[in-house]
Amino acid sequence: MSDCIFCKIIAGDIPSATIYENDEFKAILDRFPSNEGHVLIMPKEHCANIFEIDPEKAGRLFTLAAKIARAMKDVLGFENMNVLQNNGPVAGQTVNHFHLHLIPRYENDKVNVSWPQMDLTDEQIESVRAKLAQKMVF
Ligand code: AMP
Ligand code: ZN
Repeated sequence: MSDCIFCKIIAGDIPSATIYENDEFKAILDRFPSNEGHVLIMPKEHCANIFEIDPEKAGRLFTLAAKIARAMKDVLGFENMNVLQNNGPVAGQTVNHFHLHLIPRYENDKVNVSWPQMDLTDEQIESVRAKLAQKMVF
């Protein structure tokens, strides 16, 4: 994708702080991190989001994420981490190339990951559950 900033990073046309790469994936430091050691893991082949990525590849990416998270923890000494992945502008995705955020969390840091919580009835929960469950035919 010629206009994709992460494709340009992967191609080497834009510099990045790479911490790991293999044939399929690249892991870099976020250029505008929310905390020290904020890492992004992305597939080298362009795909936009969770709805487009090959599910098996997504599984391999998450396996890699679990390994990278442990290595980061050892080096940086944090105990807590958020793993985030945004899909689409309404969900906060600003770079339209699939990526997983690994965000170390430190005591009293300024990172804010939160959402409102709805107080639904059991019937409302069941209505959504039934709709979704009948589509889970994998
Ligand atoms: P998202 O909002 O989930 O799409 O995340 C995109 C992330 O890419 C943000 O956290 C940005 O700080 C980060 N970012 C944008 N440009 C660059 C760049 N050139 N190198 C590394 N990270 C970047
Ligand atoms: Zn791309």
